[in-house]
Amino acid sequence: MCGIVGYVGGRGAQKILVDGLQRLEYRGYDSAGIVTLGGGATLLREKGKVVELEKLVSEHETPDKIGIGHTRWATHGEPSQQNAHPHQAGDIYLVHNGIIENYKELKQELPDHEFTSDTDSEVLAALIDSFYDNETSLESAVTQALQLVEGTYGIAVLSTREDDKIVVARSGSPLIIGVGQDETIIASDASALVGHTTNAIYLNDGEIAVCKAGSVELTDLASHPLSAKVEKIEADMSAIQKQGYDHFLLKEIMEQPITLQSTLNGRVIKAEARAQLGGLNMSAEELQEIEHVVIIGCGTAYYAGMLASYYLEQLVDGLTVDVEIASEMRYRSFHLPKDTVALVVSQSGETADTLACLREVKARGVKTLGVINAVGSTIAREVDGGVYVHAGPEISVASTKAFTSQVAAMTIFAIQLAQAKGAGAQELGKYIDELAAMPDEIQKVLEAHKDQIRDVATKYAHYEHALFLGRDTLFPVALEGALKLKEISYIHAEGYAGGELKHGPLALVDDRFFEVMLLQENALLDKSLSNLAEMNARGGHVIAITNSDRQIDAEAVIHIDTKQELLVPIVLNVVQQLFAYYVAVARGNDVDQPRNLAKSVTVE
Ligand code: GLU
Repeated sequence: MCGIVGYVGGRGAQKILVDGLQRLEYRGYDSAGIVTLGGGATLLREKGKVVELEKLVSEHETPDKIGIGHTRWATHGEPSQQNAHPHQAGDIYLVHNGIIENYKELKQELPDHEFTSDTDSEVLAALIDSFYDNETSLESAVTQALQLVEGTYGIAVLSTREDDKIVVARSGSPLIIGVGQDETIIASDASALVGHTTNAIYLNDGEIAVCKAGSVELTDLASHPLSAKVEKIEADMSAIQKQGYDHFLLKEIMEQPITLQSTLNGRVIKAEARAQLGGLNMSAEELQEIEHVVIIGCGTAYYAGMLASYYLEQLVDGLTVDVEIASEMRYRSFHLPKDTVALVVSQSGETADTLACLREVKARGVKTLGVINAVGSTIAREVDGGVYVHAGPEISVASTKAFTSQVAAMTIFAIQLAQAKGAGAQELGKYIDELAAMPDEIQKVLEAHKDQIRDVATKYAHYEHALFLGRDTLFPVALEGALKLKEISYIHAEGYAGGELKHGPLALVDDRFFEVMLLQENALLDKSLSNLAEMNARGGHVIAITNSDRQIDAEAVIHIDTKQELLVPIVLNVVQQLFAYYVAVARGNDVDQPRNLAKSVTVE
C-alpha cells in the first residue's frame, strides 16, 4: 500500500514524480504530495487523487532536480492535506509506507517538535530530525532513528542541508532503486521505473541506501557497507496502460486468454501429457515425499488457494491439504505435519500477512514455494522455490487475471505432484487437456457472453444485498464472486456453500436480495437445483450461471457453452468477474480504485 517515488538527476523532478505517482496510484489514493529541492524546498500536498496534486503542481512549477513523492493509503489520521506526505521536521522531509507501531511512545520523547498531522509518519520525521545536528549526516540521523522504531517502513528522506541525496530504507515495505544514466529513481514498485531504466536494486529489510545522481551506496543499519545487486526489470509501457479499455479492470478481465497462456507456456506439455513447473527447486524424490500441502494467502489469493486445494485432493491420492488465511495463521499455534510443503500465494508478492507466514513456516524448516505475480517481489525472493504466474502487471485493485493464473499454476503443481507420485496419463490427461484448452475457452466465453452479462448486471445493479452459492469446487468460486462484487460495487455480498443454505442464509432471501447460483453439470447438480427451488419458493431473485444444458428455472440464466468439465469453475468465475464489473459501472463507481481499498497490502 502507498506509492513512494523519488528522483535525483539532471531532469525536472516534479513531472517525473507526478507521473510516477500516477502509475503507483493503485497502491493508495486518498491524498498525495511531493517535495522538491532547489535552493529551498517546494512542498505540495493535496487531498484526493494524484490529478488534484497535478493541478497544484502546475501552479507551482519548479526546475528542481531532486524530490520525493507519495500517494497515501491512510492508516493513522484521516485523509486530509495536513496528513498527506511528505512530512516535514526541521530541514527534513519524509515519505513513509507502513506503520510505526510505537509512534505514541516516540512522540512523547519529542516535545520540541510541533506536530501538524495525526500520522505516525510525522513522528518518524521528527525523530530523524532530533538526531540531525550539524555534525551528523542525513544517513546517520536516519540510521539512529530507525534503531528506535517498531513496525514496518519503506521511507525516502530528503534534507535541504544535503540537497544532492535521497536516503531510503526499508523494513517490511518494498523499495526499489532504479539506476539510470546519471540519475537515480526510487519507487515502491517497478511500474514507476518503466520507461526510465531497466536496472534496479531491490532493497532488503534492514538496508539503507544513499541515492545520488548516478550513484547508490548501500549499508546495513549498523552502517556496514553492503554490495548492491543490480537486476533487470522486465515490463513495458503497454503493460501498464489501459490500451483503449475504459478501465484497467475490464482490460485485465479481457486479456485473461493471453495472460493465462503465459502461465501455461512451457509448463503444460499436452503432446507428452505432462505438466511441470520449472522453478520448484525440488527433485522428483522430494516431491514424492510430500504428504501435506498448506496453501497460504489473503483475499482473492486465499480463494484461489481454496479452489486449487480441491484439485490437489482430486489429483494426489492420500495428500492432505489445508488452506490458511495468512492473517489468522500467523498468530495461531499451528502445527504442520512432517513432509509438508507450503504454497505461498500473493499477486504482489508483498502481502504483509502472507510474508509473515512465509517467514514463520520457513523458520520451522518447511519447504516454501511461491505462487507470485510480481517479479522480484519480497516473497518471490524469500521462498525456496516456486512459480511466477506471469499474468503481467495487475493495476486494478480488484484482482481478476491473477486469480485465474494462480489457480492454473497450482493445478499444474498438483499434476506435477501426482506425476512424481506415479500417476499416469490416464488419470492426468483430462486435467492437462483442459488446462491447455482453457485460454480458448475463456476467449469464447468472453466473446459470446459479454453483452448478456452486461445486460443482466445492469438489471440487478440496484439491489443492496447478494448471496452467492456453489457446491464443491464452486464453493470457493462463490466466495470469490461475492468478494469481487463487494469490492467494486459496494453491494453487501456473501458467499456460501450450497449445502449451508438451510443452515441460515435462506432466512435472508427477500426482495432486497438477489442470489447468484453457480451450477455445474456434475453429480451435485440435482442437489444445487433443489437449493435453487428452495429459493424460488421463497420469492428469490436468482441468477443462474451454468454450463448445464438442462432447463433451469431462475429469473436470469447465463448459460455457458464450454467443453471444460473439471476446470469449469475457473470459467464460471470469469463470468462473475464481468458481472461484478458491469454492476460497478452501472452504479457509477470508481471501478479501478474502489473506496477504502488499495493494492499490494503491505500493512497488517
Ligand atoms: N501510516 C502512514 C499514514 O497513515 C503511511 C500510510 C501509507 O502507507 O500510505 O500516513
